[in-house]
Amino acid sequence: MAILVTGGAGYIGSHTVRALQKQGQDVVVLDNLHKGHRASVRDIPLHVGDLADPSFLDMVFGQHAVEAVVHFAALSLVGESVEYPNRYFRNNAAYALNLLDAMVEHQVDKLVFSSTAAVYGEPVKVPIDEGHPKSPTNPYGESKSMVETMLRRYEEAFGLRSISLRYFNAAGADPSGDIGEDHQPETHLIPIILQTLLGKRSHVKIFGTDYPTDDGTCVRDYIHVNDLSDAHLLALDALSQGCGTSAYNLGSGCGYSVRQVIDAVEAVTGEQVPVAESPRRPGDPAVLVASSSRARSELGWEPQYESLQAIVETAWHWHKNHPNGYEEETP
Ligand code: UDP
Repeated sequence: MAILVTGGAGYIGSHTVRALQKQGQDVVVLDNLHKGHRASVRDIPLHVGDLADPSFLDMVFGQHAVEAVVHFAALSLVGESVEYPNRYFRNNAAYALNLLDAMVEHQVDKLVFSSTAAVYGEPVKVPIDEGHPKSPTNPYGESKSMVETMLRRYEEAFGLRSISLRYFNAAGADPSGDIGEDHQPETHLIPIILQTLLGKRSHVKIFGTDYPTDDGTCVRDYIHVNDLSDAHLLALDALSQGCGTSAYNLGSGCGYSVRQVIDAVEAVTGEQVPVAESPRRPGDPAVLVASSSRARSELGWEPQYESLQAIVETAWHWHKNHPNGYEEETP
């Protein structure tokens, strides 16, 4: 029996594929390669195609004895989602329905869904637990929240059980150094800082220095990508043991400001990061920090990367050795 990973050639997807492979699972990847990288998938069977196409899904489910699905395939840029909400509702919500329908059709009843802290919107209390009101402030968060809603209804109607994992800030790379973060365009803080040190950018813009935080910059909860992938394996176990539909936050529980992230990078690399104070980025809440005690107690999740510096070290290892990401490795 195989685990089907949609978006398995993306950042978190490829790390989860690697973890499943290490666990000895039979893994199949489905990716349209619009954002994902073929080189990250290596020797795993890869079906290149789109969730938009029900006949393609039918073919993939028909070819493999799929036991469970881990669904990453989605667009994930908040700013772009505000500009083009149609793309987000179509790709992330409407096409997810095609996947769910294919699962029902082929009697696959277990799904781990890649959700996000963006489903909560502006926090009314921090740390954020799963009981926090869901009030997304952008179409990206809204599209993920819509899928969570569909999943609850699909369990009631069709017995499809799912676990939604709401990530806070994914960061770092596999310590092997051969898979890592490579987004086009890159918008995330840690890769942007590292690309600056590699001479690919002149400076890092600090988006907002007047937030109500200790140093005036935004505070986020950075969690290592391998700790995220471990949670997917645990979620698959929980579903195999019969657990019903639920959602879990995945974060470290520690908040770091933009300036603290820059300090951590300077400590790891021994280099000074050129910065420019810039206006706030629209839609950024001041503080996002997770309470992940539910994932710890119910899934038995124990993040291994306790410090931001340890996370940054793995990211630096990847970026230093792959300054152009996967570019040079693509056949
Ligand atoms: N950030 C920044 N400069 C950048 C990119 C990001 O100051 O070039 C800030 C951003 O405002 C946020 C934090 O860094 O407070 C993390 O942003 P990122 O895009 O990495 O993740 P997000 O929190 O949006 O998921």
